[in-house]
Amino acid sequence: MEVAEMSEEDNGEEDDGLEHPTAEKQYVKALEDGKYRDMWVFCEKQHGELLDVSKEMLGKARELMDKYNDDYDADERVVSVVIGDDVEHLAQETIEYGADVALYQNDDRLERFLHRPYTEIFVEMARTDADWRDYDEPRYVVFPATNNGRDLSAQVQAELDSGLASDCSDLYIEDHEETNPKKTGEPGESKMFERTLHMKRPDFSGYEYSTILCLDNPEREFHPQGASVIPGTFDVPEKQNREGEVIEFDSELKDGWFGVEITDHDLLDEGVDLTGHEVVVALGRGIGDDPTLGMELGLELVDEFDDAALGITRGIVTSSYDFDGHVEEYTTEERQIGETGQVVQPEVYIAAGISGAVQHKVGMDESDTIITVNKDPDARIKEFSDYFIVGDLFEVLPQLKEAVAEGELKAVADGGLTEGEGGDDDV
Ligand SMILES: Cc1cc2nc3c(=O)[nH]c(=O)nc-3n(C[C@H](O)[C@H](O)[C@H](O)COP(=O)(O)OP(=O)(O)OC[C@H]3O[C@@H](n4cnc5c(N)ncnc54)[C@H](O)[C@@H]3O)c2cc1C
Repeated sequence: MEVAEMSEEDNGEEDDGLEHPTAEKQYVKALEDGKYRDMWVFCEKQHGELLDVSKEMLGKARELMDKYNDDYDADERVVSVVIGDDVEHLAQETIEYGADVALYQNDDRLERFLHRPYTEIFVEMARTDADWRDYDEPRYVVFPATNNGRDLSAQVQAELDSGLASDCSDLYIEDHEETNPKKTGEPGESKMFERTLHMKRPDFSGYEYSTILCLDNPEREFHPQGASVIPGTFDVPEKQNREGEVIEFDSELKDGWFGVEITDHDLLDEGVDLTGHEVVVALGRGIGDDPTLGMELGLELVDEFDDAALGITRGIVTSSYDFDGHVEEYTTEERQIGETGQVVQPEVYIAAGISGAVQHKVGMDESDTIITVNKDPDARIKEFSDYFIVGDLFEVLPQLKEAVAEGELKAVADGGLTEGEGGDDDV
């Protein structure tokens, strides 16, 4: 391996004495002919437990690397990284969720996520020689797209001089044939990039998916190929009785990394809890023709059930609708369902005027029965609806309310609707 190091002099910039953010970067250097192996997974924890998204990523990493090893006749591993105080048992647990090797760093000062030390430790782990590995850097790294994971992933990948596809909702590994001269080195040539991590992510507010690839340039390598993953995208795997190597990492923590000291902490008031209800009625921007009336109709439907709550999309939270006072309190972020809101799994989820963007989907698609109302017969939400009602919510919601009042909703849900995709029917 050679290290192509870029100092301030090398890159032609004069030091003007100002503190540039990059001045603190330790590893502004690319590798040449580096050796890369394994998929690393940063496993975030909270209150002494692994977050579900950490388990979800481990399950996906296991699946990807099992296939990878079959496809490429290889023997590469899933490596988990756990940083915190008293985390050895969590490192052990990551093995049960799919890791082959669990690397952990313990220190009381690491109890809570801190940008600087967590970054320093991860980068040191990724770039330091060790007995258990014979490569320069991980081939792939995966982080959770949580607040902390987003923060860490961006800085780690910058320090490792590679790229990051953030907020991914699918990952797969395949060879990729590329014709872009920036990547091939020759106009008109094509080049095969083997073992490329394909990172799918929603773009344009969820209307399109992009597949991001992190490909080497002819004169420069980009590793690890890195992604952050939207929580809830993959299933939490079953715990298994697996064997693996648990390795304590012993970074010499520097006092200067702890410029921020957390002296006290408190849980924010969690506001409205939409979880645990039998029914959730959710409204989206389809209420736009008369936002106050739309909210009123949703609330009236909620009232017909014994145990229901009203949720909304981010589309409503960020809208500039002018709501009348009595419904306004239901239009704030604390009722938002989705990736950056709450995740609900009621027995019945009724979604009216919602298009079905992936960021909303991940907050509700584990619901037992999903009934949707949309004017557009091709709305994306149809793909994961059990019952898809094509119609104007201003007409359909009062009908649903009546059906519930008369005990007919169950009968409706049991049949009588026409063809749908996620399960069953349209009307
Ligand atoms: C990083 C990030 C995080 C995000 N997090 C979230 C999140 O947590 N939750 C979330 O919801 N979104 C989130 N979003 C936004 C998301 O991408 C969508 O923009 C949002 O979900 C769209 O809201 P909507 O379905 O209400 O609106 P639209 O997409 O505008 O859909 C409105 C739907 O209503 C239908 N309609 C219109 N009039 C009627 C009518 N009269 N009757 C019936 N149907 C009608 C239309 O056909 C359309 O399908 C996030 C986006 C990003 C980039």
